[in-house]
Amino acid sequence: MKLIISSLTAVAIFISLACQTNSSAKENTALYEQGQTPPGGKKVVKTNAEWKKILTPDQYAVLREHGTERAGTSPLLNVHEDGTFYCAACKNPLFAEKTKFESGTGWPSFYEPITKNAVKVAKDNSYGMERDEVVCAVCDGHLGHVFNDGPKPTGLRYCMNGVAMTFQKK
Ligand SMILES: [Zn+2]
Repeated sequence: MKLIISSLTAVAIFISLACQTNSSAKENTALYEQGQTPPGGKKVVKTNAEWKKILTPDQYAVLREHGTERAGTSPLLNVHEDGTFYCAACKNPLFAEKTKFESGTGWPSFYEPITKNAVKVAKDNSYGMERDEVVCAVCDGHLGHVFNDGPKPTGLRYCMNGVAMTFQKK
């Protein structure tokens, strides 16, 4: 038991050192204005090489390199059964099917996450556009963007890359 505790302490020290030396991670944290902790306080941190081993090239391009899948290509667009969408990288539950709607954009769209802290939102000013980026709260994987033109009750449109998610029927 003592050994487990001391190795946990070592991991914690390593993580806090890593955070201190990584200023962009610090900036990202500041951008997560909601300030929410991930579900269960759980974080998944892996190196790029480790992610490459467990993700397909398409998943890696979206989740780790902020890519965007081609509109209309995700099989998840056609999911209309009761169930849950999970992060393809860390299996964090992200969206319930009942909050999915037909946005006509070619990307799976939802009006709210399954729990308030399932995802985090950060500012994304790439490509000359000001957008709100949506990332998985547990592994920080890029999922898509959120816009203010969604349906009731939230008025939000979470525009997700299907390749970044998996679906499981209830
Ligand atoms: Zn994740």
